[in-house]
Amino acid sequence: MRLIAALLPVLFALTTVDVRAQPHVPMLVLEHANVFMGALAPALKDVTVVIADGRIQSIDRSASTTGNSPAAQRIDLRGAWLLPGLIDAHVHVTDIAAAHRMLSLGVTTGRSMLTTGYEDVGLKALYARGDNDIPNILAAGFPVVARPMAMQPDLSSLVFNNLDLDDLRFRDRIGADGARRIVSDNATRHVDWIKVFANGRAGVMTADPRARDLDDAELAAAVQQATALGIPVAAHAYTDDGVSAAVRAGVRTVEHGSLMTEPTLRLLHEHRVCFVPTLSAFYESQAEGDAKSVDAKALATRSHAMLEGAHVAVAIARKIGVVVIAGTDTGYDAGEPTVIDEIQHLADEGFGAAAALDSATALSAECLGIEKRKGAIRPGLDADVVIYASDPRLDLHTLHKPLFVITRGNIYLDNFVRNAE
Ligand SMILES: [Zn+2]
Repeated sequence: MRLIAALLPVLFALTTVDVRAQPHVPMLVLEHANVFMGALAPALKDVTVVIADGRIQSIDRSASTTGNSPAAQRIDLRGAWLLPGLIDAHVHVTDIAAAHRMLSLGVTTGRSMLTTGYEDVGLKALYARGDNDIPNILAAGFPVVARPMAMQPDLSSLVFNNLDLDDLRFRDRIGADGARRIVSDNATRHVDWIKVFANGRAGVMTADPRARDLDDAELAAAVQQATALGIPVAAHAYTDDGVSAAVRAGVRTVEHGSLMTEPTLRLLHEHRVCFVPTLSAFYESQAEGDAKSVDAKALATRSHAMLEGAHVAVAIARKIGVVVIAGTDTGYDAGEPTVIDEIQHLADEGFGAAAALDSATALSAECLGIEKRKGAIRPGLDADVVIYASDPRLDLHTLHKPLFVITRGNIYLDNFVRNAE
């Protein structure tokens, strides 16, 4: 973590360079493959998928002549299943070990929704320079919160990284101009998203998730500034009041949203705002109530209430057609929930396996604005591919054991047992 922070000035210089997959990665010809094409389209059966220069080049019937280059690496998949690399729309990944854990589970893209020292910006820079052991991280830098020094994490890292923002430390709340300045500071770090807090946090006992955090003027200022700079905004919000203020201000995604009722969900639908219910996080802190600490028990009780609300909100969202996508709200540290758990939860909420897979691939890519590069297996898109022994739609447990994880055409993980010669 510290190393990345120390390297930041160097890494910033690299963030604008779009280095695609390393040139020495050979062409990959995947034969006798089945391809998941989303919940609404039939799967492609027994095809050959050719990958080169980091992208999907072609998908043809097997036994075609494509990819006959002698340098190509050919793999007979014997009917294994290709899915687009999984996307987790809400992560807090702060170190390289966690980044590796993401990739080894087939999670090739994660949208960071807060790190305390711009670690997401550092990971994004490593990916941008071509490191194929790092997932595609969409960075959000430091969030816009009303009372930064009273917040956990506090504003220290923001101030230490930009002394021009030090005066915010002494204010009761940041105000509209403070909101604009935090957005602008994030923009200089090449963030992909801005996160705003419309309600308080749920995971900290000293915070009240039912209370508003940013007021309407601060929310509007943050979103206007981000929009002027071409950066989409995500809102941490729980209540009808918090969510609707954020949606009216112009955010693109609502994180958590557990206490929303139907009129607010209809507002999301009307504004085409995506809903990231982060069910995994609530399931996890509910389970942690078995721990000894008083805080953990209190949070478990709170999470129980959040989960009850989330079940209702997700059911309404499904009924009225709000786009729901998979986000875990976890850091991919050992033992934490992963997007595979979130896919299972969404399937259990009534979406079913195929639509839940869409929520962590194509739908997520659209909500995150990366659908021209990620989220599907289609010629021209980045070759972020996860391969499984059997069709995950029939049993989502399959997702826990990928045979291959491929990122930008580079094989990161290979657990495939080849035929004996
Ligand atoms: Zn979060």
